[in-house]
Amino acid sequence: MSGDIETKLRGPGAYALARRTMDAMEANQVWPTAVNFELWTHYVAEPDSALGREIARLLSSGEAFTDTLADELAAAFLPKAKLNEQIRDAGDALTKELDAVSRAIESAQKSSEAYGQTLAGASRSLADMDDAAELKAMVENLSTATRRVQRENKSLEKRLSESTSEVTKLREHLEQVRRDATTDGLTNLANRKAFDEELARACADAEADGHSLTLAVIDIDHFKNFNDTWGHQTGDQVIRYVASVIGRVGAPPRFAARYGGEEFALIFPRETAEIAITVLEEIREEVSSRMLKRRSTNDDLGAITVSVGLAELHRGEGAHGLMERSDSALYVSKRSGRNRVTSAETVAAAA
Ligand code: GH3
Ligand code: MG
Ligand code: MG
Repeated sequence: MSGDIETKLRGPGAYALARRTMDAMEANQVWPTAVNFELWTHYVAEPDSALGREIARLLSSGEAFTDTLADELAAAFLPKAKLNEQIRDAGDALTKELDAVSRAIESAQKSSEAYGQTLAGASRSLADMDDAAELKAMVENLSTATRRVQRENKSLEKRLSESTSEVTKLREHLEQVRRDATTDGLTNLANRKAFDEELARACADAEADGHSLTLAVIDIDHFKNFNDTWGHQTGDQVIRYVASVIGRVGAPPRFAARYGGEEFALIFPRETAEIAITVLEEIREEVSSRMLKRRSTNDDLGAITVSVGLAELHRGEGAHGLMERSDSALYVSKRSGRNRVTSAETVAAAA
């Protein structure tokens, strides 16, 4: 999971991980290019991932780690590169389709021009026409030209209707690629990239029209322990469960996202901290009151809790300031015992 790497590269062990990655690259005589670094970070941090295993296989087979090989691995395994490639392919296909359509239209224009000339010529010769045979020849000539134009129109029509359905397919494909690029694979909530964009937009809107805006960050408590006890896979299921609780109250115009590993964010456009707190207390309550059970083994996993921090947008502070204050409020929740909701406004009032 690339989300994990992103988290690890911004976490406590980040520099150690980067150093181990560089060491591994040097030991294997791999150039420290940006792409290689990204690939090798996965190999070092997550040797059991599909990419980690593939690199191990290549190394044991003695294959040289060329730039071409690196690009291939990046395209196949790194979600960003994979996505870029898909977007490029979809774009190429769309361009090709549009080229073909404009060529078809051009040729149809030419033949209708020619038809116009044929008609003009006919009306000129009609003026000095004096026998039936000439008239007959001209009519034949005209009807041949008419049939030709009809044929071409029909084929243009067919071409256009094929192309319309092709363009619809491509548009759907692009839409799918776009959705994938903004959705978190595990939880189906928006991912961090989509969240960052949405928060910036929501802040700008709130600044522009003077409405309130509240941001909450939600973090699962002691999740490392949970993972260590029950395993990463069960941990993933718990992340999905918490995401589903958050998603339920996060329907538009609210915006729910998985911000990082076990962290979520909720944007409340046009809502005050006071309203948001009641919603967030519901989430906290719902999560902490549910006894979790692992279906496959029937193990009782106990309950988990979440800590929440929220802040209401101050004029002029922007997305960054709002995020920082929500994070600080979350930190206060963590420090004062976890399983609680803290509003930046009450922290400020107490200080
Ligand atoms: P705190 O109450 O202070 O938040 O403690 P914590 O253990 O939750 O926080 P910490 O940030 O130390 O650890 C977060 C853990 O979340 C580390 C990692 O094991 C786990 N985690 C992060 N992303 C994922 C994921 O995608 N799946 C699973 N199963 N675990 C994850
Ligand atoms: Mg946590
Ligand atoms: Mg955390």
